[in-house]
Amino acid sequence: MKKRAPLVVANWKLNGGTDLICTSVASFLTKSFKAEIGIAPPYVYISDMVSFLRNSAIMVGSQNVSKFASGAFTGETSAQMLKEVGCGFCLIGHSERRQVFLENDASCHTKIERALTAELMPILCVGENNQQHELGLTQDILYRQLHQALPGLELQGKRLCIAYEPVWAIGTGKAATAEQVQQVHEYIHQELVEILGAEAAGQVQILYGGSVKKDNAAELLAMPNVDGLLVGGASLDPEHFTQICSIANDVAP
Ligand code: PEP
Repeated sequence: MKKRAPLVVANWKLNGGTDLICTSVASFLTKSFKAEIGIAPPYVYISDMVSFLRNSAIMVGSQNVSKFASGAFTGETSAQMLKEVGCGFCLIGHSERRQVFLENDASCHTKIERALTAELMPILCVGENNQQHELGLTQDILYRQLHQALPGLELQGKRLCIAYEPVWAIGTGKAATAEQVQQVHEYIHQELVEILGAEAAGQVQILYGGSVKKDNAAELLAMPNVDGLLVGGASLDPEHFTQICSIANDVAP
């Protein structure tokens, strides 16, 4: 049993559409969850999702946010806009954003500040790639990502999450073991204490993401430093995702 409700977040990436929204919503609304659930569809579906889920506790969020507040930035969506349409959180620095769209730790820092100002909960994604993993550089990479993105934030009364997503585990079917995840989450917590202080660090939930399925969700959530899950591929199957959420219910207080 956890001290606080685990957070399970679905990242649909560039997938889904009206059909998936309808089946997902139908599946969510038949259950009541003790775990906290979030869902991040593509931007254009956020408003529909928010209106379908308005009578539920399920949070809707975005997969990204602009580092700019407003102005001549074609194609961008600001934190304030996301808040206005009903988002509760936003993913920041997902490895696909870092790899494909060349986002870096400095832009993550600015995006976190924008999100906090707009009262959106930022979920900062961090993690090492396969080569870095093989070379034993996991802690060095996380140290850099955390120490560059997090210092100087005004967190008083705000919520922040970290998602540890080893790149080698994303979409590969090769999840990190529960023991590996526990060890890394302990390290992340230790660095959060250094950067934010013990009190603020104690409030930060650390999620694991990377090939989470209903078959490994329970053992991951059983780890003391795993406060929730970020689910990609398996969240596109509403029944599968709902099962993962039900597993999270079992460890909720
Ligand atoms: C992700 O990309 O955030 C993710 C966790 O993907 P998957 O579950 O498919 O590995």
